[in-house]
Amino acid sequence: STLSLRDPSLFRQQAFVAGRWVDAASGEVKQVLNPANGQLIGTVPNCGAKETREAIEAADKALPDWRSRTAKVRAQLLRKWFDLIMANQEDLAVLMTVEQGKPLVESRGEIAYGAAFIEWFAEEGKRVYGDVIPSHGPDKRIVVLKQAIGVCAAITPWNFPTAMITRKVGPALAAGCTMVIKPSELTPYSALALCVLAEKAGLPAGVISVVTGDSKPIGGELTSNPLVRKLTFTGSTPVGKLLMSQCAGTVKKVSLELGGNAPFIVFDDADLEPAVNGAIASKYRNAGQTCVCANRIYVQSGIYDRFAARLAEKVAAMKVGNGLDQGTIIGPLIEDKAVVKVEEHVRDAVSKGAKVVVGGKRVEGGGHFYVPTVLTGIKADMLVLREETFGPVAPLMKFDTEEEVIRLANSTEFGLASYFYTRDIARAWRVAEALESGIVGINEGIISTEVAPFGGVKESGIGREGSKYGIEDYLEIKYLCIGGI
Ligand code: ADP
Repeated sequence: STLSLRDPSLFRQQAFVAGRWVDAASGEVKQVLNPANGQLIGTVPNCGAKETREAIEAADKALPDWRSRTAKVRAQLLRKWFDLIMANQEDLAVLMTVEQGKPLVESRGEIAYGAAFIEWFAEEGKRVYGDVIPSHGPDKRIVVLKQAIGVCAAITPWNFPTAMITRKVGPALAAGCTMVIKPSELTPYSALALCVLAEKAGLPAGVISVVTGDSKPIGGELTSNPLVRKLTFTGSTPVGKLLMSQCAGTVKKVSLELGGNAPFIVFDDADLEPAVNGAIASKYRNAGQTCVCANRIYVQSGIYDRFAARLAEKVAAMKVGNGLDQGTIIGPLIEDKAVVKVEEHVRDAVSKGAKVVVGGKRVEGGGHFYVPTVLTGIKADMLVLREETFGPVAPLMKFDTEEEVIRLANSTEFGLASYFYTRDIARAWRVAEALESGIVGINEGIISTEVAPFGGVKESGIGREGSKYGIEDYLEIKYLCIGGI
């Protein structure tokens, strides 16, 4: 096996339900494979509705004690958890690379980024202030309390196996909520390792559970059980819509971080080198498998040729390989299905007149690798612009005017991130205000941080994660009307 950890106890092949490490009642397991070579890493229990119900009931039982502790006491436990995650950063990074594929440097980065949400919200939990509102009558007083929503369910994807959990569980626990988590079937070990450390940190039983297994029965229970008051989901737009409709039956609150189709715009007056570097950082991180990856690169006609040439030169030098190997920049895609989708997008573009400048093919042999690619001559009707490619392919489309590119950028049902490069301050304000997205990178290709609000508009989602706004998603407002004064 490729897995060698300093602390082997971080690799757990059981689910964590109600403070216990358990197998599925059915005895069934699911295999977990390494995307770099297809090798079996291990198995996890194939839990179903029964185990999910047990986890929800444990979360409900743990709730009164957890939410009535002071924010400071909760913060101390979260801080311990954060410290343990950082103390085990290297092992957690190796585990992530083995199950997810991303280069080890990126995995180390994700562990630090993911842990930061726990640290940030441990602190932020102490600053959940209510309000006193000037009264509407002389004998009355109005007070607003903010209280934990209650039991929360989280369903998370494989592209950020740790951070997509911590950016939910951090604010939830800090606010006084408890949580049941269903990680992606493809990357359960990062989630389970977090539980090993949560247990060590002293989080009470039931405050968090991780239920592994097939998504439908687990998701069905999480979205229908009346004890669950909120669902937070990160994943694809179709699954988000389905879960939102399943939650309607019990009117659960929902936070959704769904698909994106990020435009990346380079104006004639941009600085070339930073724009190329920003495009690379945004496009090729995690082999193009992030929901804020530049998916459509619009370049103004005066800088188009120079931008394309410089980007192609840098992309051609990227090393593709197993994420554990020194110097790897592009790891495998998560599954063969993902490679097939990238192939389809490139084939469609080429058939409609696009030119492959670099790459344009899968890597033959084991693993799900695709050569980092640059396409020029892209037109609006091509699949690479209409759908999220989720792979290492940069399609470059030429444009002439600011009005034209804003119209193109907004011509999508998505609205998560967008990016643009310009040195003109007036244009920077105009374009930033006109783009229909929750996040705008201006002369910047990397926008993720725990201190800023991450989230989308339109069909990219509901709610914000990170920052002082992120904790609001786990709080209810209660209005006290005090009369007879
Ligand atoms: P992606 O694989 O593109 O990240 P998905 O939306 O398919 O997006 O997966 C995100 C998460 O949603 C995963 O944990 C997956 O298991 C889960 N999921 C997928 N389908 C369902 C479903 N029908 N019910 C509940 N969870 C689901």
